Amino acid sequence: MPLDRGSASLMTRQRRLAGIGLVVVFLAISGFALWCSQALGPFTDAVRQTSRVADDYAAVDQALLEEESLQLQYRAQPASSVRAEFETVAHELDDALAAVARDGGAPDQAESKAALADHAALRAAIQRLFAAVDRRDATGAEQIETAEVQPRLDAITRRIADRAAQRQADATTALRRLDSVQSFRALAIRAVIGVGLALVLAFGLLLRRSQLALDAERTAAIHASLHDTLTGLPNRTLFAGRTDEILTGAPQPGAAVLVLDLDRFKDINATLGHGYGDRLLVLIGPRLQAALPADAVVARLGGDEFAVLLPSAISLTAALEQAERLLTALSAAFAVDGVELDVDASIGVALATVHGSDAATLLQHADVAMYVAKEQGIGVCAYDPATDGHTPQRLALLGELRRALERGELTLHYQPKVSFRTEGAVGAEALVRWEHPVHGLLAPDEFIPLAEHTGLIGPLTRYVLDHALGQMRAWADIGLVVPVAVNISARNLLDERLPDLIVELLERHGVPAAQLEIEVTESAIMTEPARAQQSLTRLKELGIGIAIDDFGAGYTSLSQLKSLPVSDVKIDRSLIGQMDNDPGMAQIVRSVVELGHHLGLISIAEGVETQQSWDLLNGFGCDIAQGFHLSRPLTPAAFHTWYTTQNPPPASQ
Ligand code: C2E
Ligand code: CA
Ligand code: CA
Repeated sequence: MPLDRGSASLMTRQRRLAGIGLVVVFLAISGFALWCSQALGPFTDAVRQTSRVADDYAAVDQALLEEESLQLQYRAQPASSVRAEFETVAHELDDALAAVARDGGAPDQAESKAALADHAALRAAIQRLFAAVDRRDATGAEQIETAEVQPRLDAITRRIADRAAQRQADATTALRRLDSVQSFRALAIRAVIGVGLALVLAFGLLLRRSQLALDAERTAAIHASLHDTLTGLPNRTLFAGRTDEILTGAPQPGAAVLVLDLDRFKDINATLGHGYGDRLLVLIGPRLQAALPADAVVARLGGDEFAVLLPSAISLTAALEQAERLLTALSAAFAVDGVELDVDASIGVALATVHGSDAATLLQHADVAMYVAKEQGIGVCAYDPATDGHTPQRLALLGELRRALERGELTLHYQPKVSFRTEGAVGAEALVRWEHPVHGLLAPDEFIPLAEHTGLIGPLTRYVLDHALGQMRAWADIGLVVPVAVNISARNLLDERLPDLIVELLERHGVPAAQLEIEVTESAIMTEPARAQQSLTRLKELGIGIAIDDFGAGYTSLSQLKSLPVSDVKIDRSLIGQMDNDPGMAQIVRSVVELGHHLGLISIAEGVETQQSWDLLNGFGCDIAQGFHLSRPLTPAAFHTWYTTQNPPPASQ
């Protein structure tokens, strides 16, 4: 199942979140690593500095002790070596105090300065003591010792000891701090690695999950683009691909393509509702498959149209037999929600290499054959190039017609319709012409049947409607309101998109629906009355006029048309043409006009070529005339001139 838009955008959001998450985790871990590498620096620096200063104080303390003991030693045993050693120690003490100033902070520098001064005084006192010892003045020496040396020594020792202890304490604190930072770091590293791994795992899983969802979505999209949503069968694209594969791979001389269209499927939709129609369509595929060899491919082309590829049908006869078996398989009733539905179908058959060597040609030819089968009500029909008139020249013309539509080589001529009552023009019929670059101006009879037997009538009718409505718009813009009738083929009428197309074009050109009329032949309606009626009813509801074209050329009776949503009846020109010389025909025309009026239909006489015909029809109460007597079909410019000279009609007429 393809993801809906909501969950698709959720997936995209999750992917983005996972991506951003991963980046954030990596950035955080990198930041943390950076912090780790830097964090201990200040603390180790502090430890190093405090312990250096503590060491310096310890050295001072040590030197003081030594000075004291050397001084005592000298008094007991005055030797020059002792004095020399004293000098060395005194220098060492000064050096140590200088180191305190260098390594310590401002208080240490002050301390060092004071201690240096004290030491200088102490040294001076000791020198005097040494001098007393040298004079053998024991009393003097004792006095100096007691009064000067000892107090100074005590003071300086106390001061240094205090400081040293304090510095020692500082060093211990710094060390403890370093210790706790270190253990915090160890803990943090473990936590960050744990959390980081968990986050990477979580975001990784999220990414993987959305990747899987994306993959599934992609697979579903590919499947959806190659299959029909309703039935799950291969669609036209996949079917054509398989067919071409088989035809180009190992050439299978007997491969055949069947196109199958349900008859009166619209009746089921119309009477039971689209739900039933849909459920029936779902049942068709399996029913067909059950009646087919295992290697056959069943596809839904759209609507109620299916295609079957028989990769090894062997011969046309075998393919036709297979088609008959499919019809038999379909003839057993389908049970849809407790309702038994009978289904008929028409099948067209095209054989590979004989009727085409690629999927597109085979499908098109099987389609032509299917349409013949449907029109003639014969169930199954093989493609026949002779009867379908698809000679190479006509096929070439078909290709050119396709290009002509793209290049706009088709033009419309407008034949005026004139009211008997006012003798003024009341509208026009749009008639298509092909300005062929080589063959010159081609009449519709030369290419319309060709278009009708291929899918080209759809685009052609669209083209004609588009141009006719565009012309109506252009005339309306210069103040000319011209109702225009457009001819619609049987195949157009069976295309359920026709009403929507017309609505779209009316809106695009801003033309009111009431100004458009469509002309359909009675045979077009009788091919599939239910489908035709559905399309016509929709068009009638939109306010579009509907004329039965060429009436009298077929075998339909007017009363048969009564049930149809028709507004006008156009009496065929073969009847009108005979009227002048055949009073019987004139009577028939008269009764058509009268019966038409009785049924509320406007009567339009086609092919009015003489004044005599005009007068007769006028006498019968006919409403509108069209024919060479009034005007041939005209180019838009010529029509404009004609229309403005006719409307309003001269007062004398
Ligand atoms: P139609 O719908 O019966 O159109 C009337 C045809 O009778 C036109 O032929 C017109 O030129 C011709 N006509 C008009 N007045 C007279 C007259 O007094 N005497 C004679 N002998 N003929 C007259 P055209 O234009 O050659 O069209 C032939 C047919 O081609 C049309 O017959 C119509 O069935 C079909 N056709 C024309 N345009 C289109 C179109 O756009 N779409 C479709 N599906 N069919 C078209
Ligand atoms: Ca017509
Ligand atoms: Ca006609």
